[in-house]
Amino acid sequence: MSLVVQKFGGSSVANAQRVMAAARKAIRAKHAGNQVIVVVSARGDTTDELIALAKEITETPPAREMDMLLSTGEQISISLMAMAIQSLGERAISLTGAQVGIVTDSTHTKARIKSISTARMRKALEDGHIVIVAGFQGIDEDDNITTLGRGGSDTTAVALAAVMKHDPSGPKLEVACDIFTDVDGVYTTDPRVVPDARKIEAISYDEMLELASAGAGVMHSRSIEFARKFDVPLQVRSSFSDSEGTWIVPETEWMTKIPVCGAALVRDEARIALEGVPDQPGISHRIFEAVSARNIVVDMIAQSVGSNGKANVGFTVPSHDLTATLEALQPLAQELDARLVHDAQVSKVSIVGTGMKTNTGIAEKMFAALASEKISMKMITTGEIKISVLVDKADAEKALRAVHSAFSLEKPRYGAGASVEDVNHSKIATRHNSQSSGDLVEITQQLASMEEILVSEIQQAVDQGRITLFGLPDKPGNSFAIFQAVASGGIVVDMIVQNLCGGKVDLSFSVPREKLQPALALAIEASRSIDVDIQASADSEIATLYVLGVGMRTHTGVARRIFGSLASAGINILMINTSETCISVVVQKNQGKLAEEKLKKVFDID
Ligand code: ADP
Ligand code: ASP
Ligand code: MG
Repeated sequence: MSLVVQKFGGSSVANAQRVMAAARKAIRAKHAGNQVIVVVSARGDTTDELIALAKEITETPPAREMDMLLSTGEQISISLMAMAIQSLGERAISLTGAQVGIVTDSTHTKARIKSISTARMRKALEDGHIVIVAGFQGIDEDDNITTLGRGGSDTTAVALAAVMKHDPSGPKLEVACDIFTDVDGVYTTDPRVVPDARKIEAISYDEMLELASAGAGVMHSRSIEFARKFDVPLQVRSSFSDSEGTWIVPETEWMTKIPVCGAALVRDEARIALEGVPDQPGISHRIFEAVSARNIVVDMIAQSVGSNGKANVGFTVPSHDLTATLEALQPLAQELDARLVHDAQVSKVSIVGTGMKTNTGIAEKMFAALASEKISMKMITTGEIKISVLVDKADAEKALRAVHSAFSLEKPRYGAGASVEDVNHSKIATRHNSQSSGDLVEITQQLASMEEILVSEIQQAVDQGRITLFGLPDKPGNSFAIFQAVASGGIVVDMIVQNLCGGKVDLSFSVPREKLQPALALAIEASRSIDVDIQASADSEIATLYVLGVGMRTHTGVARRIFGSLASAGINILMINTSETCISVVVQKNQGKLAEEKLKKVFDID
């Protein structure tokens, strides 16, 4: 038997005509022999309008009441959709999140799903209904209505597909999930910002996860987390046509040859720095504990090596969380005698691609593109398949366009325009794969705590060395000049952390240990032609720990647990980098083993 979950976004149900068109799609899927669950968002701009209504009453609406208000948008859509389907002669029933039994935690406005009951949906499906579920909402254990965060209906849809697929008390189902929206698929970047962006035919879960959390608003990043964890085949497609969209699939061979598959922009970020904190174990832990205690997701973290017993910790948060973050940190800054500074006018540009793991020179090319547009980089962080750069908000779109064109993302390639057999093959593999997912016991356990963080592995590398340049002037092209010099020696740079403090830039990066001295010589030479006062240091005695998993960045507690476990063992963190699939931490080499043990313990890994 097969089940299709269809999700219709706001613009796909914006008026009566579109609701009817969506209803027809659902009926067609039913007539093709599937059971059908439809998840709908609030119509058009309803959610924005509801937020504006609240702001007419108060600038600081209580989160619980906000959820009560926002959930009404989806409730309008489900009833209209049920009426539409019934008017076309099919059976349909609408259900709110609470009626389905979507239980979440109590973090209002950004709740996480704890469990979903399948009983009521299953009964309705067996009775021949098309089941229509309100996206974006749930209920906590005290029966309060909650919402999952903006764009959360995607997450509802994929989570429903996941529980139905793995329901131990239900029949074996082949499950697929279609995300119908106002674009015909995932593009190399937002086609509204870069009109020559190209449609992608297939993209891996990890790439989509990084792209979504880097700002590709076409999908809610947590929905991809579910899809990957529970093996749900996903297609993003147009609600206005029947054309095939973009398949989000497990990684396949051809993807590893594509260094950059897409670029994305988060327009509204805020940069916060604590300058001059004591360079001691436990300080980062205290900083990020204070922030995550307020359920604020820290985005980029640029913690690099200190000098003269002092260190600078820089990070970003969504700009709407700036005030709360500053409030959380003020007492700590005072206690540590550190300067708390912020910049509310910054944006983050990122590039993502599986092939970055094996192709060299990607960061250098990105920095060159920005330098040639005279765009200054305020922070850099790298991940295994992602590089992010923080720029002035005024430069954001220019930066995105420059990067998109530097990697020729508008040109056809494998999996995007130049379709090849391999692409079709990976789609077919995903459909078939939909029956064969992993160990059932393990999956059932995961379903019992659906959105818990999933850390799968801790690895350690001891074959690298670290270089830091202190006090680089904050000018476009400076960091690029350093990386260009290092690359000219044929040296591959792995992790990069750049942080702006007191108007100067600290730049740290790791290279293979045997290349440390030549890399240092090249970096010093390049820095001398920028400013003779730039200080450089190198350290061959480092260990890099990689904490691998899914949704690492969006779970507020992960960085806190990493910092906490290392702090309690008295281990100082020299560098840190975060992405959705990996958090990497550099420590002194002689503490590597202990750090690995501590991290395995805190994440319960054998
Ligand atoms: P829905 O209401 O259907 O959930 P969204 O507005 O959330 O729709 O998502 C669709 C929009 O996402 C598109 O109109 C597009 O402007 C934007 N978008 C951002 N990045 C991308 C991308 N990489 N590919 C496609 N669309 C993107
Ligand atoms: N209606 C909600 C929002 O606008 C959820 C969604 O559309 O996915 O964010
Ligand atoms: Mg959306």
